[in-house]
Amino acid sequence: MLKSMNCGALRKDHVGRTVTLAGWVHRRRDHGGLIFFDLRDRSGLVQVVFNADVSEPAHTLAETVRPEFVVQIKGVVAARPEGLINPNLATGEIEVEAHELVILNASKTPPFPINEDVPVRDEIRLKYRYLDLRRERMQRNMILRHQVISFMREFLNRQDFLEIETPILLKSTPEGARDYVVPSRIHPGKFYALPQSPQQMKQLLMVAGYERYYQIARCFRDEDLRADRQPEFTQLDLEMSFVDSEDVRALIEALLIELVGRISDMRIQEQPFPVLSYHEAMERFGSDRPDLRYGMELVDLTEAVRHSKFGVFANTAAAGGQIKAICVPGAASFSRKQIDQLTEGVKERGAKGLVWLKAEHDGLRSSISKFLSEEEKDAIIELTEANEGDLILAVADSKEVVAESLGWLRTHLASMLGLADPNTLAFCWVVDFPLLEWDDEEQRWVAVHHPFTSAKASDWPLLESDPGKALANAYDVVCNGMEIGGGSIRIHDAKHQSLLFSALGISEEEAREQFGHLLEAFRYGAPPHGGIALGLDRLVAILAREDSIREVIAFPKTASATDLMLNSPSPISARQLAELHLSIVE
Ligand code: ASP
Repeated sequence: MLKSMNCGALRKDHVGRTVTLAGWVHRRRDHGGLIFFDLRDRSGLVQVVFNADVSEPAHTLAETVRPEFVVQIKGVVAARPEGLINPNLATGEIEVEAHELVILNASKTPPFPINEDVPVRDEIRLKYRYLDLRRERMQRNMILRHQVISFMREFLNRQDFLEIETPILLKSTPEGARDYVVPSRIHPGKFYALPQSPQQMKQLLMVAGYERYYQIARCFRDEDLRADRQPEFTQLDLEMSFVDSEDVRALIEALLIELVGRISDMRIQEQPFPVLSYHEAMERFGSDRPDLRYGMELVDLTEAVRHSKFGVFANTAAAGGQIKAICVPGAASFSRKQIDQLTEGVKERGAKGLVWLKAEHDGLRSSISKFLSEEEKDAIIELTEANEGDLILAVADSKEVVAESLGWLRTHLASMLGLADPNTLAFCWVVDFPLLEWDDEEQRWVAVHHPFTSAKASDWPLLESDPGKALANAYDVVCNGMEIGGGSIRIHDAKHQSLLFSALGISEEEAREQFGHLLEAFRYGAPPHGGIALGLDRLVAILAREDSIREVIAFPKTASATDLMLNSPSPISARQLAELHLSIVE
């Protein structure tokens, strides 16, 4: 190798040793007779000194070196004098006295500093991603990602899982999101689709008798643009035979707990993870991915104000809606303007307005005070457990709008007031999701999870009588208000699969055409099975304390699905188009 040691590994024990180092010049300080480099390789930094008295040629050459030059240095490890020890650097007790310097490669001045954690525009970072990845923060994130993936593999191998790859060139099926498709050259007019997930393949592996499968799987979904979404993302995908929901959850819970213990200094709030039904999550938190790091739960005031003189409350209750509130600790001092902004926020989420009540020493103050009886005020204070100085915010509307608007308000206020401990991981399971939801646009029922998810055993008859009431044997794992994974126990026989397809309005012919392989496979002794997929990017981002999954993906795309470094997507040549039997319609 061009080096005998890594920069970051040098310690006091090495004093007196002659070493050859190679790396990048992180920083350079010229003090005339003495020139200092901080030399960087993946392992860290070490200080190198060029003394004109020790080696004139090396010192002279060092004068020409600039940050990010790649150099090789031969020198002797020396203890730093007492006062010059740098306790903030792992190698801070020593330095390397350079005898020889070879410039392996020069560098242009980088478009942003590599040696400082300064804010840089995202477009520049993505265009020069290979330089961005040199920065300490990114390196830390990439190493963390590697540790997470290696741990997952190790954990699952220990549990007798097999890692099996599934095709990237797959078949387009109506599964939820839009497919990315690949035209076939050999079969004119036909297309492969990139997998939205290996869902069907992993189920077929269960039919094939593999019992425990996993894969670090890339998934592709051509979905509408959103700030923190990537057209391709990574899942820890797994599937197991002869299990029920508790078995899959226990495995994943053990994996997450051991993972956090091994590679993170964050604290898990509660073990075993709390399990909430979808209904409970929506009622208490207005969300199916509740952040449990703080309170401010939704409180139901409907009964307390059902007969109120405040018409909005009484009418909403009479129409079968809900009146719910959250109590914001210490926020009675919020200004009119602040409350107006919150009102705008809930209006964007469908609410008609936001009622505020301030808990003051002599009772509740509110714009609707005069409509509320003393009993109503007392009940509101009692139900919300408001203390003096708290702000109660209430919405009266349909159950859906109340959940959506107060759920948003709860997380919005928590982040505004800094209520969520950044060092805590509050995991929970959300179970008992509805199996189907009504799609107004398509005028049909669609699967909440995916069309391979089983209904709860006793709920199958509901598929015909009252489809919206049927619950799914599905589960999501949530952490700090984010869904980090989801899965289900699957349908494993052709009869139930056909029943579900028909509930989804998929005709028998269509089902045979699209999912024939699965229906056929289920006729050859398919075992009961279920599984889950964890969103690896999101999980690593949480552990890295990063807001965006882009920070933990080596080469991410922008929110508009472009790669700024490669300039992709890009046109292809007329010849390629012709080979693929394609023409572009302007
Ligand atoms: N394939 C599912 C998904 O990508 C996960 C699962 O059900 O295992 O969401």
